[in-house]
Amino acid sequence: MNVLIVYAHPERRSLNGAINDFTVERLRANGHAVQVSDLYAMNWKALLDADDVRERRSDAPFHPSLDSKHAFENGLQSRDIEIEQDKLRWADALILQFPMWWFSMPAIMKGWVERVYAYGFGYGVGEHSDTHWGDRYGEGLMAGKRAMIVVTTGGWESHYSPRGINGPIDDLLFPIQHGVLFYPGFDVLPPFVVYHTSQMDATRLQTTYDALSKRLDRFWDDAPIAFRKQNHGDYAIPQLTLRAELAEGESGFAAHVE
Ligand SMILES: Cc1cc2nc3c(=O)[nH]c(=O)nc-3n(C[C@H](O)[C@H](O)[C@H](O)COP(=O)(O)OP(=O)(O)OC[C@H]3O[C@@H](n4cnc5c(N)ncnc54)[C@H](O)[C@@H]3O)c2cc1C
Repeated sequence: MNVLIVYAHPERRSLNGAINDFTVERLRANGHAVQVSDLYAMNWKALLDADDVRERRSDAPFHPSLDSKHAFENGLQSRDIEIEQDKLRWADALILQFPMWWFSMPAIMKGWVERVYAYGFGYGVGEHSDTHWGDRYGEGLMAGKRAMIVVTTGGWESHYSPRGINGPIDDLLFPIQHGVLFYPGFDVLPPFVVYHTSQMDATRLQTTYDALSKRLDRFWDDAPIAFRKQNHGDYAIPQLTLRAELAEGESGFAAHVE
């Protein structure tokens, strides 16, 4: 299988750097082909702007989504965007690896998503009708591929527990797992979270590697998170609300998992 790891940390000699090296080695040892988009090393341009479109009239107002659509359809996207899209086409699986910064991914990785997920590629795919609201949330160009987050946190596991002050980890990762990954069609595996990173030492790192190895070895066998698909009857269209008889009494993120 082909695995793309999109990785964001400014220092290679970090815990994240060590985990990234380990992940690549383990996947390759298991016979997989691996590419790493090391966003800081690539000096990835994080800002979505008019420079993302080649041969653009400089006097026309820049429209982030319509310019993206035009560039994607006409082969006018900036080359760095096209290269990352090709990596995604090549990949059977995507791993997003990052330290949690301010309860989300580092800005450079958010910029990778914003620019690489062009209109017609990450969103704006498929037909809109009374029964089908675009190919998204379980359908889309990434359908059939798997994805997983590998994230490190300064906070302890208890801080991210159901009643922890940071909020439950599943809730915090929902915008990435459901919004960024499930939306364009990925099957999303449960995340691999390394908590309380200030307490890391060689012994604990070995335990972390052992646990990560198990996850990587079962990557194509583990059940993905059972997010509800948009166009399979669970949601009223076009309201896109969950039907009243499903997950009765539940609301919020958890209601979108079967
Ligand atoms: C801007 C910012 C925002 C943040 N926001 C949040 C937040 O919202 N929530 C939250 O929980 N945390 C937050 N943090 C903390 C952050 O998530 C952690 O600092 C980060 O996950 C640690 O990962 P690292 O790769 O930078 O670790 P490092 O700092 O590189 O290492 C962490 C520990 O692991 C040890 N270590 C490193 N490499 C090895 C190795 N090879 N072998 C053995 N030990 C090793 C180091 O000695 C150190 O003790 C934030 C930090 C920043 C800078």
